[in-house]
Amino acid sequence: MGSLNTFPLSFKVKGKRIIIVGGGDEALNKVRLVSKTTGLVEIYSRRIEADFSAFDVSIHERALHAADIAGTALVFVAEEGDDADLAKAEARRLGIPLNVVDVPAECDFYTPSIVDRAPLTVAISTEGDAPVLARLVRAQIEALLAPGIGKIASLAGGLRHRVESLIHDGAARRRFYEDLVTRPDMDLAGAELLLEAHAANGPGQGVVWLIGAGPGAEDLLTLRAQRLLQQADVIVHDQLVPAAVVEMGRRDAEQICVGKARGHHSFSQAQINTLIVRLAGEGKKVARLKSGDPMVFGRAGEEVAALRQAGLSYEIVPGVSAALAAAADTATPVTLRQVSSGFVMATAHGADDADLAHWAALAQSGLTLALYMGKAIAAETAVRLVAHGAAADLPIGIVVNAGRADRHLYAGDLGALAAGAVDFVDGPAIILVGRAVAEGDWADAASVAADNFKVA
Ligand code: SAH
Repeated sequence: MGSLNTFPLSFKVKGKRIIIVGGGDEALNKVRLVSKTTGLVEIYSRRIEADFSAFDVSIHERALHAADIAGTALVFVAEEGDDADLAKAEARRLGIPLNVVDVPAECDFYTPSIVDRAPLTVAISTEGDAPVLARLVRAQIEALLAPGIGKIASLAGGLRHRVESLIHDGAARRRFYEDLVTRPDMDLAGAELLLEAHAANGPGQGVVWLIGAGPGAEDLLTLRAQRLLQQADVIVHDQLVPAAVVEMGRRDAEQICVGKARGHHSFSQAQINTLIVRLAGEGKKVARLKSGDPMVFGRAGEEVAALRQAGLSYEIVPGVSAALAAAADTATPVTLRQVSSGFVMATAHGADDADLAHWAALAQSGLTLALYMGKAIAAETAVRLVAHGAAADLPIGIVVNAGRADRHLYAGDLGALAAGAVDFVDGPAIILVGRAVAEGDWADAASVAADNFKVA
């Protein structure tokens, strides 16, 4: 960590004079910022050129006098010339914080990019060096903060003394506030009831959020998933969820990896059920983070059943399932008019003959199959599908590490896949089967043709 050359702080301006010297677009930019405040904004310039009519500001189209500067809280200089020089000199003489637009060397302070959820503000600063970066980061934070969060912040502010008198334990107080921020629609009456409930019964029970992490890229997580990860006390995640995604959780959250990688020692499903029931029973907020979508081959059914039986609350947050990421990576329309009337998510692992016969018939009738957990048994699965009546020339496409930068594609047909074992790169894979696969963009795919195979 480098040391900061500037210190971000919140400066009180209510009812104070803020002066902007300049009448052009740069002055207008500053006005846009400072007029969000309850400060009294005054503009001085001999030539007022920009249109300030949308803002509540007083405009003085004249030369600046030294006396104008006295008693102001902040001075912005957004033009050059005698008035600008006078403003700088006076501000410095009187010790009034000064900002000279686009001249960092002359500034006492910089203005951050602001996310405005009044009374909540987030200020982003790059010490004046990279304003474009600050604006980009700001856009990301805008997306992250629920629009209602400002209202919650005012509620929290208004309730602060009551919270302090009713809840004495610091951790319990934090739990109340955490509970409050998860309810952006709450009004004052509701917040008071919530406070009384916390004061009377403690934080009450925990909750388990079954969260879909998507296929592994940080930006394929939903905003809701990200928000809840920030609120979790404990993150219980599968092996397939990359560390970068787990790291998006609250910094001080406990992280528990429950394995589930093929061939590794891992928690049994029963142990996972017991674990999340115990954690939520202790009053914790548990993020149960699963790859893709939690309801698709995620054993969510068992976990939800255990939570219901224990009378604990839970919520499911959907995620981008691997098959959909694979379809997106390869621009494959898994349903397509006249070609594929449906899309089947199935697992190759552990499938019996009846399953295979069923899917072979579906694929034959034009549906697209997405086979999960099938990489190690890809050839064998293809053999069995063909044996059950699927055409050997049905197009197949395989995406390893779908939705991630290191994805790998393989394309061919069912017969070629059945002929041997491809040397797949490491990583989880989706096998797509069906006529619609040929409509995708598989230009970067390695060919699944007989000469690429180590024939079994
Ligand atoms: N709930 C997950 C599936 C979990 S089962 C989902 O909705 O995607 C694990 C299987 O998912 C893996 O064997 C593999 O077939 C598939 N899978 C998960 N992540 C993947 C990825 N990034 N690329 C390709 N397949 C993936």
